[in-house]
Amino acid sequence: MSETYYNMIKIGMISGGVVLFLILELIVPYRENSVSKFRRWLNNLGLGIVNITIIQLGFLTLMISTSVYVSDKQIGLFNLMQIPDWLKIIDTIILMDLAMYFWHIMTHRVPLLWRFHRVHHTDLDMDVSTTLRYHIGEVIPQFIVLTGTIYFIGADPVGVLTFECIFILSNLFRHSRFKLPNWFDNIFWILFVPPAMHRIHHSVDLEERNTNFGTIFSIWDRLFGTLLTGINQNQIWTGVDGHIQEKKLEIYHLIWMPFTPAVK
Ligand SMILES: [Zn+2]
Repeated sequence: MSETYYNMIKIGMISGGVVLFLILELIVPYRENSVSKFRRWLNNLGLGIVNITIIQLGFLTLMISTSVYVSDKQIGLFNLMQIPDWLKIIDTIILMDLAMYFWHIMTHRVPLLWRFHRVHHTDLDMDVSTTLRYHIGEVIPQFIVLTGTIYFIGADPVGVLTFECIFILSNLFRHSRFKLPNWFDNIFWILFVPPAMHRIHHSVDLEERNTNFGTIFSIWDRLFGTLLTGINQNQIWTGVDGHIQEKKLEIYHLIWMPFTPAVK
């Protein structure tokens, strides 16, 4: 498969997922929007389009090339062990999601990284477009961490592409804003991350925000003691204290935000 083909799959997954979850959000919204959805979408799409076209596609090529290189040269953890290909794919998904769990914690705990990650958290409502709201200064080091993980574990291209597809869908789903039955949340939450779990992470309350860092699996939060459940979902106020004025959250504010005074 060529890199163009990989990139087409990625673009298709992102745009298809955004449209699917947007339709569900419009048909069965989780709750009323507190600010204009349209204005937020303009800002989030603006950031997302820059990220996807310039950075994400370039880095997907780098990630795939790295996996081809380590497979050819037999470098990395998986290539030291004789394990079947299907198990390599599952292990790739698990270990890369684990790497993203630790990376997400770092973006909250390291002040310099938080300056960039807070752009994502300043969204005043959480919906599928929040998935696109990342500052380019966060996206670049995140892909460097992913590429390093691929090198270290010796992931093959199929494993990387499978991870990317599941990671994109999980990331879109955990931010989405449509009504889900409680029984689904409760079952899904045992292993994976439903929007109810991630909504707590987007709370202005610092104790709630410093929990639920997972993207695909909820097991990392369980294992490392960062899981928070039992919060009244209807009382969660989304955003970052100190960035609550809608008119100061336009796209140019978001791009400049990491270089403005620190906000917890
Ligand atoms: Zn976060």
